[in-house]
Amino acid sequence: MALVVANPAHTSPALTSPALAAVRERMAAAARAVGRDPAEVTLVAVSKMQPWENIEPILAVGQTVFGENRVQEAMERWSERAAGLELRLIGPLQTNKAREAVGFFQVIESLDRPRLAKVLAEEIQRAGAAPRLYVQVNTGEEPQKAGVAPGDADAFIAACRGEYGLTLEGLMCVPPAEEEPAMHFALLAKIGRRNGLSKLSMGMSGDFETAIRFGATSVRVGSALFGQRDYPGA
Ligand SMILES: *Cc1c(COP(=O)(O)O)cnc(C)c1O
Repeated sequence: MALVVANPAHTSPALTSPALAAVRERMAAAARAVGRDPAEVTLVAVSKMQPWENIEPILAVGQTVFGENRVQEAMERWSERAAGLELRLIGPLQTNKAREAVGFFQVIESLDRPRLAKVLAEEIQRAGAAPRLYVQVNTGEEPQKAGVAPGDADAFIAACRGEYGLTLEGLMCVPPAEEEPAMHFALLAKIGRRNGLSKLSMGMSGDFETAIRFGATSVRVGSALFGQRDYPGA
């Protein structure tokens, strides 16, 4: 079998991203450490609030899955460049933005209340296009955070499927910043298991390896790829 050895002289600097390679390597190592296939875990590059010059090198080396937390910002950044990409909404969704979100995103990860489920169901009907949906669970029950409370998750999932006729792909969570994330990831995995949802969006720059150990099928990584966002509170 022939061995193809990369020749650095033939690799343009624009076609490498050390940050992306490092994150992918850490993801793969975390997966292998628990006997998982690294290919089971999708990297969602969180491009919110990043200048284009930070995003371009990662796009150029073939990253195709990006996460954004605001509908408007995402559309401004990606509308002209969305072909071939998978764009995921990972921030809270207001019902008055549901139509735009359904038309624009391939995945919506922040489904967290009956009113939104109802409006999404209507918009999916009307658009004839169905983004893949994740129910966001507020595992830390933080009042300022989006997501359905863990104790309400089973009933909400059942209502999404039954009452609103939605097909769900998985669950998403953002653990409290100041707590050990492992228990939150374990809780999300448990809620997923008992509801037949095996896709779990969990883990960010500071904890994606832990999330992979607990079964994450996608991790949402921003600052470890792009550098710190230079604004407070996010
Ligand atoms: C900003 C954000 C991320 C990425 O956070 P980093 O710590 O920069 O990796 C992931 N998930 C959600 C929901 C976010 O809002």
